[in-house]
Parts: sequence; structure tokens; C-alpha cells
Amino acid sequence: MSDAAAAERLDEVRRRIDKAARLAGRSPGEVTLVAISKTHPADAIAPLIRAGQRHFGENKVQEAAAKWPALRAAHDGIVLHLVGSLQSNKAEEAVALFDVIHVVDRPSLVAALVKAIAKHGRQPDCFVQVNIGDEPQKGGCAVAALPALLGQCRESGLPIVGLMAIPPAGLEPAPYFALLADLARRHGLAQLSIGMSGDFETAVTLGATHVRVGTALFGERD
Ligand SMILES: *Cc1c(COP(=O)(O)O)cnc(C)c1O
Repeated sequence: MSDAAAAERLDEVRRRIDKAARLAGRSPGEVTLVAISKTHPADAIAPLIRAGQRHFGENKVQEAAAKWPALRAAHDGIVLHLVGSLQSNKAEEAVALFDVIHVVDRPSLVAALVKAIAKHGRQPDCFVQVNIGDEPQKGGCAVAALPALLGQCRESGLPIVGLMAIPPAGLEPAPYFALLADLARRHGLAQLSIGMSGDFETAVTLGATHVRVGTALFGERD
């Protein structure tokens, strides 16, 4: 992707976010655009950085570790988000590498993150991922298990900033976004990580503070 094409795509996505925010009576500045760069090489990412994008998301620790140290060394102000499932044995590496972790979803991972944060003296912002459609194959904490997991986070000293979810594929996402927003409100959590290329405007109208957009910025993945 040329620098001009990257700037144009970024502008277009940003415009759509701003419009959805204003329609909902929200300030566009409340919505962080996280560019999901999974599978894309550094040469595809650099044009977006040059166009001003700073928040990026990856779904695999290994892939992020291979790509991002060099990109970060070359560009100031990068904020790196983990949006894919995290094994407890990779918690240390994740804490060292990421600024925001969207996928806290079970007691063993909470314990591993607490330990890793103490060891590294580095504290990423953490979201709890909720399995909002109650899908057996999907990651995320069951809705019914959320109060206990949040209780564990509080007791063990892992601050949680918000909730994240991926609604079931092929269904109207709005009811799932609204349900997640309601859960966040009930638990006093201010941030909501919802919305992907196909539904980020809906997510913004329903309260997204973080939208995770890949395809609309980078084109289709292989
Ligand atoms: C890949 C991915 C996205 C981005 O999806 P697009 O449809 O390409 O925008 C968002 N969130 C998560 C968790 C992902 O894995």
C-alpha cells in the first residue's frame, strides 16, 4: 500500500467513526481506533504509521514479538494492543510487549498476569473479554462467570479498564454490543472494546471506546 493510499483509508475510517460518534451525541475523541495489523508485514504497517496512526493490535504474541520491536524503535508513540487469545505461559512475554491486553478471560490467566506484572514492573491496561454470544468455540469469559472473574481481578490487584467482545458471526451485532455496554455499566467499567470492519459504526453509536479495525485499513487478509 502506498503512503497516499494508507492515508486515504485511514482518513475514511476516521471520518466514519467521527460521523457515528456525532450521531450518537458522543465526542469523536472518545473513540480510539486500533488498527489490527495481524498477518501484515512491517512494510504494510509503516505507511499507516507515517499517516499518523499510533494504536495497533495483534492477535499472536509470537507474531507481535517478531514485528513490533523494530517498528517501535523507528517510530515514537506506538501503543500496542493484544486482541487474540493468550496462553498463561505467554503472560510474561505479553506483559513485556503490549500496552493494552483485551483478552483477560479466566482465573488462571488473571493469576499469570498478576505475577508477570509484578516481575516486570510494567502494567498494561486490561480488558476482560466476554463470550457475549455464549459460543462454545469462542474465547472469553461466560456472562454468568463475569462477576466472579472481576472479583478475582479486584482482589488480586489486576485493574480492569473495560470489557471486550466479538459478537457471533452472521448475526445482527447491535443487541450483543448493547448487552456488553450494559454489563460494563453495571460493573462500573468505563471502556468498551467492540466493533470491527463490518460493524464499527454500530459499535460507536452503542458506546465503543476502542474499535478494532483490520480489513477496512489494510485490505483483505490472505
Ligand atoms: C482480526 C480481528 C479484528 C479485525 O477484523 P476486521 O474484520 O479485519 O476488521 C478485530 N478484532 C479481533 C479480535 C480480531 O482478531
